[in-house]
Amino acid sequence: MKSKIYLSPPHLTGNEMSYIQEAMNRNWVAPLGHHVDGFENEISNYTGAGGAVAVNSGTAAIHLALSLLNISSDDMVFCSTLTFVASANPILYLGARPVFIDSEPDTWNMSPQALAVAFKDAEDNGKLPKAVIIVHLYGQIAKMDELLGICNEYGVPVIEDAAESLGSSYKGRASGTLGHFGIYSFNGNKIITTSGGGMLVSNDINALDKARFLATQAREPARHYQHEVSGFNYRLSNLLAGVGRAQLKVIDERISAKRIIFETYKSELSSIRGISFMPEMKGTFSNRWLSVITVNKNELGISSLKLIQALEEENIEARPVWKPLHLQPLFSECEFYPHEGRDISSELFSHGICLPSGTSLSMEEQYRVINCIKDSVKVKV
Ligand SMILES: *Cc1c(COP(=O)(O)O)cnc(C)c1O
Repeated sequence: MKSKIYLSPPHLTGNEMSYIQEAMNRNWVAPLGHHVDGFENEISNYTGAGGAVAVNSGTAAIHLALSLLNISSDDMVFCSTLTFVASANPILYLGARPVFIDSEPDTWNMSPQALAVAFKDAEDNGKLPKAVIIVHLYGQIAKMDELLGICNEYGVPVIEDAAESLGSSYKGRASGTLGHFGIYSFNGNKIITTSGGGMLVSNDINALDKARFLATQAREPARHYQHEVSGFNYRLSNLLAGVGRAQLKVIDERISAKRIIFETYKSELSSIRGISFMPEMKGTFSNRWLSVITVNKNELGISSLKLIQALEEENIEARPVWKPLHLQPLFSECEFYPHEGRDISSELFSHGICLPSGTSLSMEEQYRVINCIKDSVKVKV
């Protein structure tokens, strides 16, 4: 059996241990500590955000952002539908109601047209959403000028789910810094990792102070343990923040590697009729977290699922594009706004394939993937 090629495995730098060792030497392994402060500052500097709060997952960061916007059980939150369930789960934690917005074809992200219709309906019904969660899928940034324009018109704050897009930018501004809040994830499969972790960023420093308070059990300033509101245990451990600092040092190399992986797939496969690549919209820069293609079964003679199976037989991990949340049984009761009468996200789900995109992928391994695709296509033609 050939060695397994994973979709996006963690890629260590070799320097993580020195940061961990330093924390150990100081006997400082608790949550909070110098690596946490350092990591927060370094993420702020890297992204240009006003401030950052390190937490133990991207999901926790979204939960905090929604909590800071005082979302509760009577509220409605608009959210991209084509995403991982973690984008919307925190809406449910607060008992609020998600409403899902379709993708558009240029970025695969939230459709401004669909969002406008959803807002119009909400206004007509006399109840606006309390927040809009915009996801930047696979590193590609959404059409932020259009989306923010609509949200600002209605005075509704935006949370950017930039879990997959650290290092991407929109007209020169970092993903995660365009809305009221942004979140990043450092889960094992993301462009940099702390094994598990996340970050909340914002220019609203007061809100970030409150996030820090809520994330540490909402302990009031007093000698004894004093509590007036319900908080969470969401802070990142000092050890893991050390791992994040080592990883952040090489993020630009990781982005270059991801983009080269994408370009290599593209140069080898884009001449095949029936294979298309995820676009990169003009004025945006994608970290190309995952290289994603779509397959036209009629032209290619093989469906995306068959192609994923063929790769699996070669011990290569490939995955369909996220199943849209409005198609998930968990959200079957939720409203969904399609893009100009078309369900773009469902089309992308039916035809999309995420290809192995780990930054430690060797040329030889990438050619195993490419040749397997070429062979599968040939057999079926
Ligand atoms: C990974 C991911 C998250 C959640 O991050 P965790 O750190 O795993 O909690 C949220 N949204 C998207 C789009 C993601 O890909």
